Amino acid sequence: MPFVDGQWLDQQNPQSFPVIDPTTEKTLTGVAETGDAGVDCAVSAARRALDTGSWGRLDGAARGQLLNMLADLIEQRAEDFADLECLDVGKPAIEPRVIDLPQTIATLRHFAGWADKIEGRTIPTPGHMGQPTLSYTVRQPIGVVAAITPWNSPTMIGSWKLAPALAAGCPVILKPPEDAPLTSLLLAELVVQAGFPAGALAVLPGRGATTGTALVQHPGVDKISFTGSPETGQIVAAAAARGFRPTTLELGGKSPQIVFADADLEAAADGVALGVFANQGEVCAAGSRILVDRSVHDEFVELLANRAGKVVVGDPFEPGTTMGALINAKQRARVQGYIDRGREEGAHPVIGGGRSEHDVGYFVEPTLFTAATNEMTIAREEIFGPVGAIIAFDDVDRAVAIANDSRYALAATVWTRELSRAHDIARRIQAGAVAINGWSPLDPRLPWGGSKHSGLGRELGRAGIDENTEEKTITIVL
Ligand code: NAD
Repeated sequence: MPFVDGQWLDQQNPQSFPVIDPTTEKTLTGVAETGDAGVDCAVSAARRALDTGSWGRLDGAARGQLLNMLADLIEQRAEDFADLECLDVGKPAIEPRVIDLPQTIATLRHFAGWADKIEGRTIPTPGHMGQPTLSYTVRQPIGVVAAITPWNSPTMIGSWKLAPALAAGCPVILKPPEDAPLTSLLLAELVVQAGFPAGALAVLPGRGATTGTALVQHPGVDKISFTGSPETGQIVAAAAARGFRPTTLELGGKSPQIVFADADLEAAADGVALGVFANQGEVCAAGSRILVDRSVHDEFVELLANRAGKVVVGDPFEPGTTMGALINAKQRARVQGYIDRGREEGAHPVIGGGRSEHDVGYFVEPTLFTAATNEMTIAREEIFGPVGAIIAFDDVDRAVAIANDSRYALAATVWTRELSRAHDIARRIQAGAVAINGWSPLDPRLPWGGSKHSGLGRELGRAGIDENTEEKTITIVL
């Protein structure tokens, strides 16, 4: 049920939607969807919290203490969060324990530190009509923030939105994904325990077409922070544009991993495999276009296929499982469709490419294609599943040209030991983040986001604060 104004909201005759365990295909629970009246209540409570309530009066240090308290409480319940995330998303038990939860906690603590360091600037001005002037700026909360999250890593991506907005003093209304809403509801419980004033954070479970639409169209929302598909991102951006509201869009990717002949090929094989198969490939930064120097192509394919052959697909809670199930039947059919298309268009599966042996659960075989070209569907479209396309290249310029020939520009990884080449390529590649010799290092200090169809704006680091504040100019004619 929705969490609004510091409590669970009892709605009249709510619709509910099922939450399915992707491993067993069984219904875990039903969740009451937030109707239009619930969305309206949440927006009004957030406005009150900001304009007249105690949340709006808290200073930065107090907001920082609350964020640190929330981080402590999540740390104490980390096992519960991790188990719920596995049940809900289908990812192997180890992943939330080493990635999602530590990153969530680190993000809350990072922004707790920012909360009392949000400063303006003093700008020298020559004066006004012969009078001297003093001009300065202040950064103020941008207003009520609607945060919409996807199902692949709802806890961590939720924290990327909540933490900077709350640090900046904005009340946040979180709409978690309908396929994986459970950890966001647990978070609501902890928000009360942490002592956040009513209205500072609401959690509105519901489907995109209903609750999501009502939220992004609500005139009381001042800013929208969305992570999801480019198609939905366009709908959200259009709704935001009607009210001239700022929007941060974190959309998908088709990120290249470029392996040069001089790279440490063993380390590159480990990193590339992680980039393709982590979280079943359901990662926006998945390095699923694998560009390999032709002179080491066969050697590298062997190393990579060896890693892929060791992926253990199965029940996320079984020790030893390294890849779980995809989120739902639709996603499995979509990924399987891309695998079939890869074969039809002439790519060669060196590993995988068939149907999963599991009768129950939305499992897909980890798959690597060689003989791929950048024109094939598997190299152009985001698959959001454990499928990599290996493309050979002959020289640096060609590698950069292939990497940039994509509608996406989110992330890229370069594997080389040559320092100047690494810097040169990092400068030339179109991507919001480039990693050298390691796939997608996460850190809340680093700005995150893309351009082209990968999105608009940045989250995390200083950018997270800038995106959640308005800079106001004040001039005094002395
Ligand atoms: P999605 O776009 O279908 O849904 C994302 C969220 O938007 C969900 O909470 C959904 O309920 C909501 N939504 C759907 N329609 C809406 C509407 N009309 N108005 C408002 N909200 C609406 O995406 P998904 O299937 O949950 O996630 C997979 C996609 O997200 C992939 O394309 C992936 O690349 C992308 N993604 C990007 C990042 C990133 O950081 N760039 C991270 C994770 C996922």
